Amino acid sequence: MDTIKGLKRTYMCGELREAHVGETVTLMGWVAKERNMGGLVFVDIRDRSGISQIVFEPDNAELLEKATGLHMEYVIAVTGTVRMRSNINENIPTGKVEVEASELRILNTCDVTPFVITDDVKAGEDLRLKYRYLDLRRPTLVNTLKLRHRVTQVARRYFDENGFLEIETPILTKSTPEGARDYLVPSRVYPGNFFALPQSPQQYKQLLMLGGMDRYIQIAKCFRDEDLRADRQPEFTQIDLEMSFVDEDDVMNMNEGFLKRVFKEVLDYDVTLPLPRLTWQEAMDRFGSDKPDTRFGLELCDMSELFDGCGFSAFADTVKNGGTVRAINAKGLSDKLTRKTLDNLVEFVKTYKAKGMAWLIVDENEIRGSIAKFFSPEELKAIADKADAKAGDVILFVADLKASVVYASLGALRCEIAKRFDLIPEGMFNLLWVTDFPLLEYDEEENRYVAMHHPFTSPKDEDIALLDTDPGKVRAKAYDIVLNGYELGGGSIRIYDHAMQQKMFECLGFTPDQAQERFGYLLNAFRYGTPPHGGLAYGLDRIVMLMAGCDSIRDTIAFPKVKDSGELMIASPDVVDQKQLDELGLAIVNKVDRHATEE
Ligand code: ASP
Repeated sequence: MDTIKGLKRTYMCGELREAHVGETVTLMGWVAKERNMGGLVFVDIRDRSGISQIVFEPDNAELLEKATGLHMEYVIAVTGTVRMRSNINENIPTGKVEVEASELRILNTCDVTPFVITDDVKAGEDLRLKYRYLDLRRPTLVNTLKLRHRVTQVARRYFDENGFLEIETPILTKSTPEGARDYLVPSRVYPGNFFALPQSPQQYKQLLMLGGMDRYIQIAKCFRDEDLRADRQPEFTQIDLEMSFVDEDDVMNMNEGFLKRVFKEVLDYDVTLPLPRLTWQEAMDRFGSDKPDTRFGLELCDMSELFDGCGFSAFADTVKNGGTVRAINAKGLSDKLTRKTLDNLVEFVKTYKAKGMAWLIVDENEIRGSIAKFFSPEELKAIADKADAKAGDVILFVADLKASVVYASLGALRCEIAKRFDLIPEGMFNLLWVTDFPLLEYDEEENRYVAMHHPFTSPKDEDIALLDTDPGKVRAKAYDIVLNGYELGGGSIRIYDHAMQQKMFECLGFTPDQAQERFGYLLNAFRYGTPPHGGLAYGLDRIVMLMAGCDSIRDTIAFPKVKDSGELMIASPDVVDQKQLDELGLAIVNKVDRHATEE
């Protein structure tokens, strides 16, 4: 193997252009391709910036011989002269030129890799994650991590320019009730006591406002021990911020500036400001979701009034008993929504707890479908008019006593139909705010109200009286930022009054003693001059996923976890020595040897 001694890299592999022709350059990187054309050897050299083609000509026999010994992923340094290619490759930025090699150093060899490192990689994800360091050499992953870097850099710059201080909050902190499950870290000094990893810096950032820091930002690692869904990771990153002396508009306006900037600088995409704002109620009524995808129509329509006392008892009874009947008009889809597809969609809505789905197909001369026989032609016409349905449209209905079931099933159905029938335009980033969330939601299992956002969120001033009479109706000073059907982030104006915070805990079912015991430090702090404040946190992984067009947030993280919350490359979590357990005063009652169960 050769050394690098005396050699200086002059360019990255992806940098060479026509302007460099005639220049002597030195590149260093990995062999991404080698072709021996009999007397002529071509090698593609790759680093994170891209690839360049190197040619070894027959007139330098010794060098050619050495080049013949190269294999995939060898680490090499090449010096040579840039020249125009005879066969131009339009697909890569360096494709007009190549380097005629005059010196080759083999800096390291490479075993045969478990998979070929290319963007159209055939290997399954588990194998790639096990060898993530090889997977990271793939251009797509490199580009996603570059994009991620740019997003965080823009965040740092933008918020710095606007007077925010970047401040780190503790990773070893304390378990807080009222959140997701915590990751715990045993204390050695106090056996039987545990730190918890932060689910978010929420309370610290509020205490920073109490500490007079005025504006705070942090690119913060957060930890939640939950069963993983497609777009979740047990450790994830937030762009977390908090501001003093602000109301909802101040926080939203500040963040609109950031969003405009980040989309422009990273994707050269123009976001039009101000962003649309929907109240939570409007979002639910129109889209059946608090994170609506507004790139396509298929909005919900409330049909309840029309079916009040109608001849179709399932609908009539639902309305009579306080339920709701809503519909989607699948415009122009009567040819595509065959009986089989409709039956399939019935099963689809059932997964959202709907009891079923009814439909009416509007033809030129008649309205037919699963429930047509229950209505007179005039009634059918009135239904079609209400749903704004014309010939070629299909009206899909879901009825339920619980509005939440109707929202969830029709909300999912509209997205499903849009996906199946290609109704979602490409290249569109529909950002919007959803505001005025309910402060509390009733948890049937726990038989009590829980905070919809978190217990530190302020109720709307005009709804405070309802806290005593009808807590479920109280709206919060909370806002989510939504992009193409995903929640990018969310935040709120916080409670800053000691008595109001106490009242909130009371609404959540804590006695004053319990509240004092669990949140005493915060309640006490609120007695010492708390400024009005509010903030927001973005899910960085998700922003990057949507901006980069990745399928999964795993593709946006250098070393992600998989479904069982483990990491395949270093094989974590893992057992520890008895000595370590003893030091912590821990005894393991139930042990799973995951290495034994893995095979
Ligand atoms: N800490 C909150 C969260 O993680 C965001 C916020 O209210 O600022 O969702």
